[in-house]
Amino acid sequence: MSKHLPKKLQQLLAFLRKWPGVGQKTAERYLFEILKWKEDDIQNFSSLLIDLPKTIQSCPDCLALSEVVDQKVHCPFCHDLSRRDSSQLCIVADSKDCFHLEETNSFGGHYFVLGALLSPLKGVFPDNLPLEKHKLRIQNLNPEEIVFALDSTVEGDATVSYLKQFLSGYPKIAFSRIAFGIPLGSSLEYVDSGTLFRAMQSRLRLKDPR
Ligand SMILES: [Zn+2]
Repeated sequence: MSKHLPKKLQQLLAFLRKWPGVGQKTAERYLFEILKWKEDDIQNFSSLLIDLPKTIQSCPDCLALSEVVDQKVHCPFCHDLSRRDSSQLCIVADSKDCFHLEETNSFGGHYFVLGALLSPLKGVFPDNLPLEKHKLRIQNLNPEEIVFALDSTVEGDATVSYLKQFLSGYPKIAFSRIAFGIPLGSSLEYVDSGTLFRAMQSRLRLKDPR
């Protein structure tokens, strides 16, 4: 269908296809949905997109995406240091992981966003990670524990291994990684062996011997 569309709509369609998981058919559905919007909505949507580089920027300390208020980056995590536990620093790959973790109310420390995971296949090498900023973050916060909240993938494993080595000059800081295990509500018979292996490795002690 798309090759018969007016050129401007084909260009818009090409942008809509950039969304992860959106194929040709879904992009076409989105396109025709947008065409039904009121002009005001289209204007507001486009001006939000146009303003994004000015209104949303990375926090200079943790690199999480933050709103710019009065030309100052207003980080949701760093703006009020008294509300965060500076003894814990959580390393995530992407800004969205910070917001996801915040939803769980399971972590009250600080964050640092790597922006990517090491992946030679995708051209991501240590030089592409903000490692010096990472060290600066550690020196400023002086945490007792660094928690790696990274994907349970080859890239996540490689990044944790590299960072452990890179940060070996901080012997007093404990390193931990979020546990891997079976999804809530699932039965063992449906869990793949790799996940089960990780779950066994990450098991929790329910009772210590007396
Ligand atoms: Zn921040």
